[in-house]
Amino acid sequence: MTKRKRQPLAVPELIARKREGGKLDEQEVRDLIAGFMDGSVADYQMSALAMAVFFRGMDFDETVALTLAMRDSGKIVSLDHIDAPKVDKHSTGGVGDKVSICLAPIVAACGVVVPMMSGRGLGHTGGTLDKLEAIPGFRVDLSVREFRAQLRKTGCALIGQTGDLAPADKRLYALRDVTGTVESIPLITSSILSKKLAEGIDALVLDVKVGRGAFMKTEPKARELARCLVRVGRLAGKRVSALLTDMNAPIGYTIGNALETTEALEVLHGQGPDDLRELTYELAGEMLRAAGMVKTKAQALRRVESAVLDGTALEKMQQIVDAQGGDPRVVEEPNRLAVARHRSTCVAASSGYVRGIDPLELGYASMGLGAGRSRAEEEVDSGAGIRLHVQVGDQVRVGDELATLYTSERARLRAATGRVATSFRIGKRRPLVRSRIIETIRR
Ligand code: URA
Repeated sequence: MTKRKRQPLAVPELIARKREGGKLDEQEVRDLIAGFMDGSVADYQMSALAMAVFFRGMDFDETVALTLAMRDSGKIVSLDHIDAPKVDKHSTGGVGDKVSICLAPIVAACGVVVPMMSGRGLGHTGGTLDKLEAIPGFRVDLSVREFRAQLRKTGCALIGQTGDLAPADKRLYALRDVTGTVESIPLITSSILSKKLAEGIDALVLDVKVGRGAFMKTEPKARELARCLVRVGRLAGKRVSALLTDMNAPIGYTIGNALETTEALEVLHGQGPDDLRELTYELAGEMLRAAGMVKTKAQALRRVESAVLDGTALEKMQQIVDAQGGDPRVVEEPNRLAVARHRSTCVAASSGYVRGIDPLELGYASMGLGAGRSRAEEEVDSGAGIRLHVQVGDQVRVGDELATLYTSERARLRAATGRVATSFRIGKRRPLVRSRIIETIRR
């Protein structure tokens, strides 16, 4: 087939059309992305287009076109050499979200291949890669060749996005991040799916978070995003489903890299906090269903539970850590992971029930302690973070410890401690504590 020669693009016209609420056709979207990649569409033009999309939205066809154009901006990994279902999970980002670290080995132990590509923390949300790197020696920068080889050998690899996959998304996300255009459903959908569709998977399970610590603050918005992701992903030929999950309080008791990795490893030992275990098991069950390995939720949960209880999930984690150069002793003894040496505690100023723990404030406080980054190039302090001593619904008395803060730089403690102290809402009435799982969306 001869390659179509691209005409010079009337970029200002396309931006203006979108600004007025008009529609871009598939070829125009493809040409814009191709032009963005070859430099003929300038960053300021792409930013203006992102803002027009932010306000005017995109219809389903435009969203599909943008997703596929961004997918095709780089390599598409082939995992056809592996004769087993390949399923990944993606979370839209939360606070204390260490699920991937325990989920991936559990699902792999059940016989599903898990090619998991994750991101780094930015802003108030943490990133799986930073958490994994809290394990001494753990390498997340495998080449595509190493990634494919490890998947064949161990059935799971936990790595960072390689620069070759959906590079248009990487560049566009960097612009969106600094132009106030992240929270747009078509832009989030195309960003997430372009990367995932390039990964060589058969199916994808999405954890779409809703609430104060999430991108999507309300259930209707989160549901709209989940439906859009599921529909676009299916149209691209993958089995995609989504769980809508609550992000109005941090997940588990820890925020920060080493602290969270320790807690995730505890789940593999059959321990760990109830909410983290519930979320992990539900997502794992949905991945097994998407892989065609189980028919019912009860079957899925039995399978997942037995992989944890009989030690195969832990063994799988050991293989992964070993294959990626990490210290495998950490898997057996999660408390080996070092926490930072400067500490302070927050105590309850009144007695009653913990009615709320603000994930957004705690996410920023943890970042302030050094656990996160405000710019992509910053380093993180893997031992920094926050350990909660209570969860929503617990009863406390004046003076009870609510949280311990950790950092390697003492000067960071003061501001963060103030922030953490204001994150707890204590009241007289016991609150209703709901499951984190709100809904499963498969269509
Ligand atoms: N995560 C992504 O990968 N992209 C977005 O746009 C938002 C969250």
